Amino acid sequence: MANKWVYMFSEGNMTMRNLLGGKGANLAEMTSIGLPVPQGFTITTEACTQYYEDGRKINDEIMAQAMEGVKKMEEINGKKFGDLQNPLLVSVRSGARASMPGMMDTILNLGLNDDVVAAMIKGNPDPAFERFVYDSYRRFIQMFSDVVMEVGKKYFEQLIDEMKEKKGVKFDVDLTAADLKELAEQFKAEYKKQLGKDFPSDPVEQLKLAIEAVFRSWDNPRANVYRRDNDIPYSWGTAVNVMPMVFGNLNNESGTGVAFTRDPATGENKLMGEFLINAQGEDVVAGVRTPMPIAQMEKEFPEAYAEFIKVCETLENHYHDMQDMEFTVENKKLYMLQCRNGKRTAPAALKIACDLVDEGHKTPEEAVAMIDPRNLDTLLHPQFDAAALKAATPLGKGLGASPGAACGKVVFTADDAVEWAARGEKVVLVRLETSPEDITGMKAAQGILTVRGGMTSHAAVVARGMGECCVSGCGDINMDEENKKFTLAGKEFHEGDFISIDGTTGNIYDGQIATVDAKIAGEFGRIMAWADEFRRLKVRTNADTPADAKKARELGAEGIGLCRTEHMFFEEDRIAAFREMICSDTVEEREAALEKILPYQQNDFKQLYEALEGCPVTIRFLDPPLHEFVPTTEDEIKKLADAKHKSVEEIKAIINSLHEFNPMMGHRGCRLAVTYPEIAKMQTKAVIRAALEVQKAHADWNVKPEIMIPLVCEVKELKYVKQIVVETADAEIAAAGAKLEYEVGTMIEIPRAALTADEIAKEADFFCFGTNDLTQMTFGFSRDDAGKFLNAYYDTKIFENDPFAKLDQTGVGKLMEMSLKLGKPVNPSLHVGICGEHGGDPSSVEFCHKIGLDYVSCSPFRVPVARLAAAQAAIAEKAAKANCDCKKSVVDDETKEKLKEAAEKAQVLAKDLADASAEVAKAGLAGLKAGIEEAKRAYNENKKN
Ligand code: ADP
Ligand code: MG
Ligand code: MG
Repeated sequence: MANKWVYMFSEGNMTMRNLLGGKGANLAEMTSIGLPVPQGFTITTEACTQYYEDGRKINDEIMAQAMEGVKKMEEINGKKFGDLQNPLLVSVRSGARASMPGMMDTILNLGLNDDVVAAMIKGNPDPAFERFVYDSYRRFIQMFSDVVMEVGKKYFEQLIDEMKEKKGVKFDVDLTAADLKELAEQFKAEYKKQLGKDFPSDPVEQLKLAIEAVFRSWDNPRANVYRRDNDIPYSWGTAVNVMPMVFGNLNNESGTGVAFTRDPATGENKLMGEFLINAQGEDVVAGVRTPMPIAQMEKEFPEAYAEFIKVCETLENHYHDMQDMEFTVENKKLYMLQCRNGKRTAPAALKIACDLVDEGHKTPEEAVAMIDPRNLDTLLHPQFDAAALKAATPLGKGLGASPGAACGKVVFTADDAVEWAARGEKVVLVRLETSPEDITGMKAAQGILTVRGGMTSHAAVVARGMGECCVSGCGDINMDEENKKFTLAGKEFHEGDFISIDGTTGNIYDGQIATVDAKIAGEFGRIMAWADEFRRLKVRTNADTPADAKKARELGAEGIGLCRTEHMFFEEDRIAAFREMICSDTVEEREAALEKILPYQQNDFKQLYEALEGCPVTIRFLDPPLHEFVPTTEDEIKKLADAKHKSVEEIKAIINSLHEFNPMMGHRGCRLAVTYPEIAKMQTKAVIRAALEVQKAHADWNVKPEIMIPLVCEVKELKYVKQIVVETADAEIAAAGAKLEYEVGTMIEIPRAALTADEIAKEADFFCFGTNDLTQMTFGFSRDDAGKFLNAYYDTKIFENDPFAKLDQTGVGKLMEMSLKLGKPVNPSLHVGICGEHGGDPSSVEFCHKIGLDYVSCSPFRVPVARLAAAQAAIAEKAAKANCDCKKSVVDDETKEKLKEAAEKAQVLAKDLADASAEVAKAGLAGLKAGIEEAKRAYNENKKN
């Protein structure tokens, strides 16, 4: 059977988003529940994949089916594409599986050319209509040139600006039919000048080029960046929606709007949106004119507004989630052009999820599943200190478009934002308005401040998506982008001046305002409590200091999965002793130096145990190569020389001898303990003494140290170091006359350790995947240098993500699974965790759940993210299982039914067969009898003759 590449809206539904894209599936769903949607068709995401497979060409089969779609669309709508009597104009819109707002392309008013324009005007003598036709025409030429032919919209915008200036008007709407007609001519001339050929007048050719452009836009740079940030696979592709235009720019009885059923910034259950009279498409979002709040639409268009309110209700009850809708009113009549589950800020997501549970739309499990864990990050970032905020007087106010606190130096371009941020500066990007080209700069900034645009402007939508603070539409700012300055309330700001903006209230402040840490409370607390109920995976934290440990506990950590002891050596008073240790000639000298460090380490560990209140604490023994600790300045070298009674030259010689060509694979990890067992001894003493001390003070806690030996690649290595640890520890415990349980485990961070995990598990009480090193060693490149080529790898689609941020499940993940499979049978009590950066990445957490890890460990601020991701993994698994069981039983019933049917049929058949054979036998017998009779007769006859 031939592939089906095209679906009419009436053929689809919301479960088909993989095939039809989100926009297409929802247009079909709205159609099926009777909402007013202009009827068109969707070209599938598979056609997009095919387009790329065919070398970026639309093959004839796809195009033929699209043209059949056009024909059906013409019949449904009673208009004809390119017709001079009753022309059909269409929009050609992108729409991927996951919504990627503003990332890909859309072309409106397609099907216009000089003849169609002339015919339309001839058919309707109203001068206002003529103006509308030319307005649509110039929009079409502009969009087509920009989107399809990539001419660049600036040329056209410049022509519009010149025209407005010439006519002395401020807004596009003030241009007359004649002005717009002239503009359309200028645009076509500009097109020819830029491309050296005429603007295509054949609607079918226009359509084909537009479809191609939408497919192509799947691969544009901003879409690629967006996908990487949002974990959307490149292989998905985008669908294309082709549908009849409805005209918000027809007259003053028409308009276009965008609305959310609930406030996407706060989550409040209140319709929020914006509407522009006599406008089309992007006008609202692009900030061309400042739109009116949706409530005002009630006065202007009471019937359409009333219907819209009903639509909102229908959609929420249907999707059980907050809806983001795009609509147009043409001659007072409402048309729905898009709906989707709306993007929202993290606080809004939490509030909406809780409200939906309370309103009976969702179960707590569903509520937990609907929060994007990546967004929680923003809630954990500092907020403005309430007292400092109260004391400050705002200079001005815009719209609180995306909540949060941002404080930084003013920059004026996206490129500057990227550059300054790369230098470690905190910046606030201030612009007239933002556009999709600004996306990387917006990401690099702490916050975004715009002069123009409403709550649904590009800046607002994108900032909310990124969880970044944004204040939009502060019209009081007098902007001079060219000279990189602006004034607000009489104060002139230049590049580099400090500014603070509050994305919740929209307030703008001069200078820096103090910030405070966030807390988990209210709806956040409610969701997290639910999450904890549903998850199986434990969440620990990577913490080296008591302060970090406390923070992590507040955020819900259930233990420390990684304490890096080396960080403790760097403090002023200890580094000197550690350097003396490094520069020692004998074991005794080394031991003497280590003896000085012991009390410090012991005290550090004690504080950690106290902060953890009896929860498990994993302490990793010294890991980095020694050269990281040596002095670099002449002063320090001199000091060290004096302390060791050596010459400066001797010390320098020692330092030089520590040089390594590839320190990442050098003398580090457990190799240090093998060469200098006294280091491991000292660390063991510190761990055990601290534990004994804390256990004594808190009898109700279960203090059970977990000592982790890093960088093991061979079981004998572990066995050797473990023996040192056990001897030392047991001696300490015996000397104290106390009882204390402890564990000795290892990190799995070298591929050979994973490959020989069955050997290693014999000696290890636990495994912990150090996926930072395991990733470097598996890929064979270092994370410190990967930055040099990763971008080229993204561009060429060799990689879609940074394997250091998102666990490589195919390769590194396979090693992890292998370690579990090999290790667990050998040592059934082996517990297993992960402590690499990946422990706080949602998709990696899901993987860890799937392969059966006991816990993930991540930095303190990622703890809530990991808790939620772990719950979602458990919920998804449960749902998949239920689905599978259900499918199984369906199959069983079906098979049973079929078997029964078949058995019945067989019975009938057998009976028929038996009857038939009886019949045959009877017939045969009769035949035989007749034959005999005949023979007899013949014989007698014969005899007679
Ligand atoms: P995006 O995905 O960037 O939102 P859309 O495909 O939704 O792009 O198109 C943007 C806007 O264009 C819509 O919000 C709507 O206002 C306008 N538009 C799209 N199709 C039509 C149509 N058939 N009639 C009128 N306006 C349309
Ligand atoms: Mg849209
Ligand atoms: Mg490591």
